[in-house]
Amino acid sequence: MSIRNVLIVGGGFTGLTAAIALAQRGVGHITLVDRAPAWARVGHGLTIQGNALRVFEEIGVIDEVLAAGQAVNAVTLYFADGRVMTQIPTPRTGGDDLPATIGALRPDLHEILVAKAESLGVEIRLGRELVSYETVPDSATSVLSDGTTETWDAIVIAEGIKSPTRPTLGIAEDRAPSGLGIWRAVTSRLPEMTGGIAYPDADDGGAYKVGYTPVSADQCYVFVLCRPERVDNGLDGWQEVKRLMANFHGQFDHLRESIDEDTFLNFQEIEWIFVEGPWHRGRVVALGEVVHAVPPLIAQGAAQCVEDSLLFAEYVTAEGDWEEQLAEFYARRIPRIKGVVDASLQLAHWEQNPGSPDAEPGPVMAGALAALVPAP
Ligand SMILES: Cc1cc2nc3c(=O)[nH]c(=O)nc-3n(C[C@H](O)[C@H](O)[C@H](O)COP(=O)(O)OP(=O)(O)OC[C@H]3O[C@@H](n4cnc5c(N)ncnc54)[C@H](O)[C@@H]3O)c2cc1C
Repeated sequence: MSIRNVLIVGGGFTGLTAAIALAQRGVGHITLVDRAPAWARVGHGLTIQGNALRVFEEIGVIDEVLAAGQAVNAVTLYFADGRVMTQIPTPRTGGDDLPATIGALRPDLHEILVAKAESLGVEIRLGRELVSYETVPDSATSVLSDGTTETWDAIVIAEGIKSPTRPTLGIAEDRAPSGLGIWRAVTSRLPEMTGGIAYPDADDGGAYKVGYTPVSADQCYVFVLCRPERVDNGLDGWQEVKRLMANFHGQFDHLRESIDEDTFLNFQEIEWIFVEGPWHRGRVVALGEVVHAVPPLIAQGAAQCVEDSLLFAEYVTAEGDWEEQLAEFYARRIPRIKGVVDASLQLAHWEQNPGSPDAEPGPVMAGALAALVPAP
């Protein structure tokens, strides 16, 4: 194994999973830097699919992850008036022994990964950025914002979709608008509320759809998919979310009524990127949302990130040539990610164009998830 020390830039799902998987395969010196001065203790809910759970099982954190979340094995679709349209079992992309999905709070999962990385000896330095790097044969030198210069066998860029380092790797693709915006809130749920998505009766200029996923016995996260521009109507965020949810009833009445000025929420425009070409220059390689991010319509974002990290660690810690290992890694990863990207962009198009005669969201979603059941 020629990889003994690695710098990881970015401590989200991608960076932390890469750090853990590399440490577990014998990489003795791993340093992870993140520009955040401290880990944020607040954050949104996420749907974590079975194939992400399979990675969490591989890296030895599955018990903690399952304990932190709420298993959800089917999605119920509702009409806006609250009547059930249908219930669809979610494919078990992590195999039959794992839940199809869990809902969980991002900071809880993040804390589990940080604790695991630290227990394996990963050195975490917060409040630092990568300023520049140089590649030489078989290594790369980093300059960090704290002024340190160090040499590594590999540098992993896991900075997320807004990565400032991406263009320096010779990657021409950039993040682009998806045409969608999203409000997210964490709020309360009743025990009988097991998750679902509701569709409006007509395109009334409001929400494209509203959904929620349980994250604990009495909490859920709510999302409102809408146009990408924040409407300039003078309303505070929580009032705007309630306005967008006004025509959704049944369980959605409870959710709307539970949102107030103290609810943790935010609005964001959803962007996407997909880099089909090489993700590296010399010993500096990008993983995760630096090179692939999609609208979260099949909730595969984090799953594809952690699959990258685990597989990358498997390849580069085996005996062999770095360039050949990465070529094999891309050959396995890129077609799989492309399936997720194509399905997610197609679904995003149909969300914005309700009533499209060719719209078949159910089969597209089911087909994309079914393709992920075999291991990555
Ligand atoms: C609205 C929305 C909803 C989503 N819902 C889901 C869902 O339900 N399920 C799901 O699986 N996925 C979902 N995703 C996608 C998921 O959040 C991402 O795929 C995942 O968080 C990306 O992880 P990452 O580690 O690649 O990047 P990030 O999580 O963005 O982490 C990047 C890290 O790098 C740090 N950083 C950035 N630049 C630098 C720098 N120059 N130097 C040092 N540090 C740096 C940042 O501080 C950050 O900690 C959603 C995404 C969005 C936008």
